[in-house]
Amino acid sequence: MKKVLIVDDDPSILQIASMRLRAESVEVLTASDGAEGLRLVREHRPAVVVLDLMMPKIHGFSVLQQLRSDPALRPVKVLVTSAKGYASDVERVQQLGADRYLHKPYNLQEFWETVAELLGERKARFSVRFWGTRGSIATPGPATVKYGGNTACTEVRCGQQLLILDAGTGIRMLGLSLQEEFEGRPFKGHIFVGHTHWDHIQGFPFFGPAFQEGNEFTIYSLRGAEKPLERIFRGQMDSDYFPVRLTEMKAHLIFSELESDVDLGGPRVSYVFLNHPGLAVGFRIRFEGRSVTYISDHETYGRLNPDGQHPNPMDVEVVQFAANTDLLISEAQYTEEEYEAKRGWGHSTFLDVLERAAQARAKTLALFHHDPSHEDRFLDDVEDFCNKTVQERNYDFRCFLAREGMTVEL
Ligand SMILES: [Zn+2]
Ligand SMILES: [Zn+2]
Repeated sequence: MKKVLIVDDDPSILQIASMRLRAESVEVLTASDGAEGLRLVREHRPAVVVLDLMMPKIHGFSVLQQLRSDPALRPVKVLVTSAKGYASDVERVQQLGADRYLHKPYNLQEFWETVAELLGERKARFSVRFWGTRGSIATPGPATVKYGGNTACTEVRCGQQLLILDAGTGIRMLGLSLQEEFEGRPFKGHIFVGHTHWDHIQGFPFFGPAFQEGNEFTIYSLRGAEKPLERIFRGQMDSDYFPVRLTEMKAHLIFSELESDVDLGGPRVSYVFLNHPGLAVGFRIRFEGRSVTYISDHETYGRLNPDGQHPNPMDVEVVQFAANTDLLISEAQYTEEEYEAKRGWGHSTFLDVLERAAQARAKTLALFHHDPSHEDRFLDDVEDFCNKTVQERNYDFRCFLAREGMTVEL
């Protein structure tokens, strides 16, 4: 039976948390101060220690420090809990080697899921939620209620890390949801912007958490063709366009121009160049053996230059980039007929994307970046067409059209 030690000076928390873990057949030890906690760890070698920060005698920080300085205790996982929630404290416990942090009061289910993850009984959460699925321009109205009218924004959670793919108008609602979730506690996020066309950045000035002091967001994208990334974001908030300046956003904003893969200490993000007017990249997020690949916006090279090499090496590169991914989120904007009039605009047809997913051996394909002229009824037909094609061609993946508000667990 796996052992968990809970160190907390609050007897009611010891009781409730113990009960929750015992209900899962975990052997629970408890200590009500740091000194006793350290003694029990040495004596019983639990798999996980749930450690409160504010305790009499020895503070949680020094318990953690002592645990991490003893090589024999290195395999012990540590979940720190605290009611304070200062960003600096959270950062400090991470630096000291805690595996997870939970803010008090915590939800018992979340508590169990975190402990289960540390016990190796459950994979860390890896989920994707669509907040904006529309391409080019926001299209609110009764005809777009089902698939959504907000432009590109996708939330990705890797364990406790928050990643955001693009900052189209969908990011406003994501911001509201995050503010509700964090209830004023500061938090961090990593925003990956595939390119800086309006439909991928226009929601940023309405991203509420960026106005809250103590929050921190890193915005990753390419340096623009004509100006640095930060100037592009600053530019869209110039007084000619917007009443509030970028400098009035009180969160700590870091602009990071991509030059290599990004290692977020858990999730790892790589990128590939796409075929789109200006500069654009797609991203792949790898986390604990699973991955999501995000290709927006992209026109198949071979379609644009039919007289070139076949298969076009740049198409091969994009396919390889997405190889064996668990979820491929790919833009798909046109029918074959529509494409002829829009060749060279930097977008793919539905068929192109199905072929791309099949070549990459993706397990699931989510089509998104819906064309503004495509209403719900039209997109329903597109989804039927895609599923029929998958069946007829014996493609080995599941396929659907992304809808605003939809969540996918990986
Ligand atoms: Zn776009
Ligand atoms: Zn674009």
